[in-house]
Formats: sequence, structure tokens, C-alpha cells
Amino acid sequence: MTKTILITGGTGFIGSNLCRQLMRDENNKIICLDNNYTGSLSNIEDLLYNPRFQFIEHDVIHPLEINEKIDEIYNLACPASPPAYQGRRAIFTTKTCVYGAINTLELARKNDAKILQTSTSEVYGEPLIHPQAENYRGNVNPIGIRACYDEGKRAAESLFFDYNRIYGTKIKVVRIFNTYGPYMDPNDGRVVSNFICQALRGENLTIYGNGTQTRSFCYVDDLIEALIKTMASEDDFLGPVNLGNPAEFTIIELANLVIKKINPSLNIISKPLPDDDPTQRRPDISLAKQKLNWQPKIDLSAGLDVTIKYFADKLNQEVAK
Ligand code: UDP
Repeated sequence: MTKTILITGGTGFIGSNLCRQLMRDENNKIICLDNNYTGSLSNIEDLLYNPRFQFIEHDVIHPLEINEKIDEIYNLACPASPPAYQGRRAIFTTKTCVYGAINTLELARKNDAKILQTSTSEVYGEPLIHPQAENYRGNVNPIGIRACYDEGKRAAESLFFDYNRIYGTKIKVVRIFNTYGPYMDPNDGRVVSNFICQALRGENLTIYGNGTQTRSFCYVDDLIEALIKTMASEDDFLGPVNLGNPAEFTIIELANLVIKKINPSLNIISKPLPDDDPTQRRPDISLAKQKLNWQPKIDLSAGLDVTIKYFADKLNQEVAK
């Protein structure tokens, strides 16, 4: 059966990987919508001329008018890297989360479409429970520099559940933990892209703080599989469900792994730790295992190898320009 699927944030890192995977099914027609603030058309240039693929330049802050019948919506639109969502863009980030949720939910309601919200591990803030399960309500600083994203995403979750309770909208909410892989923006400031690009350029790696903070890194193909499985899950499974790789690493361990793989003569330099940077983060994925029959397959070393190759090609292209 043919399906029309809208992906907001479709030119971003996760969005473009999702577009590409869904396009592999010939029954799918994809509408990719983005304002290209942190996404880029170059991430989807191989898809642009496929007749089953349509790109719309639009900001989800404004109502969405799409004349076609939509069957499924993945709402991914939001800058996700701290340097991109904070600072002067902070108010815009909250608007993207909140208005973006309302505008995509309204579209889902009109179309009787299923809609999946990509929430985040940031809803747990500086977690006091470790690892984090979905029933943990979190410890977010509501007035800190990350709050625009954390609270924006929390408000979006509440809007999704209210649309479900009030209008019966078919919702799914996933909480995505740190994800990496091809089509990340080399300049977006996140740790995996920073470390790999620094090492490839022969620069020392910048660790913020003492580097003992932890993160759990999921390779993007594993995450995409989980997103598609969540959309296909039973209608009464709404989430929220954690999606991530539970293997936890300190930032120093990550730096050393990247140095070993790319250039063992490089060093680590220390930079100040940003405010409210979470100390530790690891998903409890029991619910995803049980409800989606999903768990990540690609470990950090294997995922980094593919990602390093992607960035090496991308940096070479930039040099050649
Ligand atoms: N980080 C770092 N060096 C960098 C970029 C980030 O040490 O060049 C740290 C950052 O302070 C955080 C962790 O790596 O503790 C993950 O940062 P990222 O921005 O990738 O994701 P998030 O903080 O949103 O989990």
C-alpha cells in the first residue's frame, strides 16, 4: 500500500538518514520539510530528483499547509546541537519545539495521520537516577542555558499527550540519546563531529571540563531502525520510549579512541565546561527491547570507523573546492 510520509527536519542529520531509509521502500512517498537552518540540501541531494521525493522549504514555527493526504509524520525539526540551539537562537528553539509540535499535530489531526515526536534524553536534565528509564521525571534547570531545548521538548511531549487525550490523535513519543554517524554537520559543535574533524585536520582534541562526564553513543542506522519500528508499533503504544545505545563512555575515553584511530600523535586540550552540561547519561532501553523488539547492533568502534570515513571524504571535498 502506498504511503505518504512527512519528515520535518528532513535535511538534518537524523532526518536525512531517515528520508534515505524510507525511500528504499518503493511504496513510500516522502515529503521532506526543513528551513535548512542546521540541515542542508547537500544531505539529500541524491534523493532530490526522485519522483517519490519532494522537498519543501518551510519553518515549522508557521502552520503547515500541505494539500496532499498525509499518512505518517515524523517531527524531527529542531536544532539539536548545544551551540546551535543556545545563545541568540534560544527563543527560536523554544518556538520551534512548541509551535512546531502544535503545527505538526494540527496537520496530523486534519489528516488522521500517525505522528511521531522526536523528544530527547535532555528531558532528564542532570539525571539523579542512572541509567535513565522512561518513568524518571528528570532534573532540568528551567532557567539555564539548555532550558530552551530541554523545556521546549518537554512542552512538546505534553502537547502530544494532550492531543492524544483530547482529539484521539495517534501519537508516538521517542526520547533520543546521543546519536552519531554520516550526514552529521562537521561544524555543528557536537563532541563526535568535533573530535573526528579535529583529528583529521591534525588539531588537538578539545575536552570541555575534566572529561569524566559520560555519554552513550548510538550509531545512526540503529536509531533509524528504531524510529521506523516505533512508527509501526501497535496504536496503543504511545511511548515515551528511550532510543539509544546503553554502552556508556567518558568523554576522555571517546577522545582516546578517536586519537588511536586517526592520529596517535595528537593530544587533548582542556576547555571550560559549559553550564548545565549533564554529568552522566545512559538509557535504560528495556521498554524498547520489549515493545519494539529492538536493540542497537553497531558498537562505538565500528560506528566510528564509518563516520571517520564519511568526514574524511567530506573534508577532502571541502579542500578540493
Ligand atoms: N564536548 C567536549 N568537547 C567538544 C564538544 C563537546 O568535551 O568539542 C563534551 C560536552 O561538554 C558534553 C559531551 O561532550 O559533555 C557531549 O556533548 P555534545 O554537544 O555532543 O552533546 P550533549 O551535551 O547534548 O549530550
